[in-house]
Amino acid sequence: MLHEKLSSIYDNVLRRNPGEIEFHQAVREVLESVGPVLGKHPEYAESKIIERICEPERQIIFRVPWADDSGEVHINRGFRVEFNSALGPYKGGLRFHPSVYLGIVKFLGFEQIFKNSLTGLPIGGGKGGSDFDPKGRSEREVMRFCQSFMTELYRHIGEYTDVPAGDIGVGGREVGFLFGQYKRITNRFESGVITGKGLSYGGAQVRTEATGYGCAFFVEEMLRARGTSFDGKTVVVSGSGNVAVYAIEKVEQLGGRVVACSDSAGYVVDDKGIDLELLKQIKQVERGRLETYAARRGDHVAFVPGRSVWEVPCEVAMPSATQNEITGRDAAKMVETGCVAVGEGANMPTTPEGIKIFLEAGVAFGPGKAANAGGVATSALEMQQNASRDSWTFETTELRLREIMRDIHGRCVETADEYGMPGNYVAGANIDGFRRVADAMLSLGLI
Ligand code: NDP
Repeated sequence: MLHEKLSSIYDNVLRRNPGEIEFHQAVREVLESVGPVLGKHPEYAESKIIERICEPERQIIFRVPWADDSGEVHINRGFRVEFNSALGPYKGGLRFHPSVYLGIVKFLGFEQIFKNSLTGLPIGGGKGGSDFDPKGRSEREVMRFCQSFMTELYRHIGEYTDVPAGDIGVGGREVGFLFGQYKRITNRFESGVITGKGLSYGGAQVRTEATGYGCAFFVEEMLRARGTSFDGKTVVVSGSGNVAVYAIEKVEQLGGRVVACSDSAGYVVDDKGIDLELLKQIKQVERGRLETYAARRGDHVAFVPGRSVWEVPCEVAMPSATQNEITGRDAAKMVETGCVAVGEGANMPTTPEGIKIFLEAGVAFGPGKAANAGGVATSALEMQQNASRDSWTFETTELRLREIMRDIHGRCVETADEYGMPGNYVAGANIDGFRRVADAMLSLGLI
């Protein structure tokens, strides 16, 4: 339920951003949490902080023409939404997926403001992407697309302005092509302009692993707070991309047994535990499909096409594919079959109905803003190393990531306690992330 004042702000968001349903959902979730904060801080309402936070500082939409290997010309649409720079340069990834439109980019950019704030690091919120579908495209085609995309984007970004990174469909390869084109156009080796770079040209150790590892660390903290651990727990991870693979790796190292993962075509169940080397070989080296995992792993593994991985029972769930993948029905079934903790590796993977069910059932529910913040936090560490022309070891960086995740967990718990909602990480994350941005906006005047 929304407080009366917030309800009218939300109605205004609906009116001003028609059809952008994912953005509406993301705004509503934050507004539902921050009502009690306005009671304690009337200055936020007086300065219209919420109204200002819901309106991006700048939205850029551009044409991306490119030619495929046969010479045929294609036209995609590119986006960059620079949402809020009160805490630092806009920071957030680029998503290349056919489902991308302004509403998706705005939901991701809006979430990013609070996530980045929660890390305690000096980064604002932004997000971008394109409706380009990299699937089935040759490396040359992907390169030409990235070059065309950057030929427009370069004029809007910079290490003190806006710093993109990867997201769905944008990994190390794409970041390399994007940075290469930026460098060529500007004649500047400005490492801090993009994160997720390769280690040979200014990337940071652990950045590739950071979102998945960070999510596992966050769940570890939630389990510890309940007097338990990953040890021996049955875990399901959705997706088999960057976040999923490294979530699986860290969960296995922490003693959990990951029995299922998925892609957009279906899922595999492997009772002996996912064979990570085989998964990496298929998904990262061969850029293949998950179905191949089942074919190569042996008779005990089945590929289940066209169904949701959330029908596989688990004690810990780590949704790491895409938005709104866990419905209310999935959540009810998961609670019934013994799920005790959920750590969102993806952004907004649980529907509002699903979240309600988990919270009411007392499941430890770590929302993406907190649980997957390790990725952007490590990006900020990459920026820090680029600025000081330094590079840290894997061990040092992983330790720093673990501390950051512990710290985020601790602040979510303390804030939820302070506002009389013990154990509610959604409220804790939203309120804590919001307060820091709101205070900075107050200090900066009417921006
Ligand atoms: P990848 O592109 O590496 O992997 C995405 C995975 O999710 C693939 O297995 C893909 O399957 C699956 N997937 C994507 N879209 C859909 C869909 N519509 N339906 C079903 N499955 C789908 O992306 P990432 O691992 O980087 O990102 C995953 C999630 O994590 C996203 O929500 C992203 O916003 C979030 N995130 C990522 C961060 C990062 O550092 N990369 C940081 C914080 C959050 P298929 O290959 O079949 O498409």
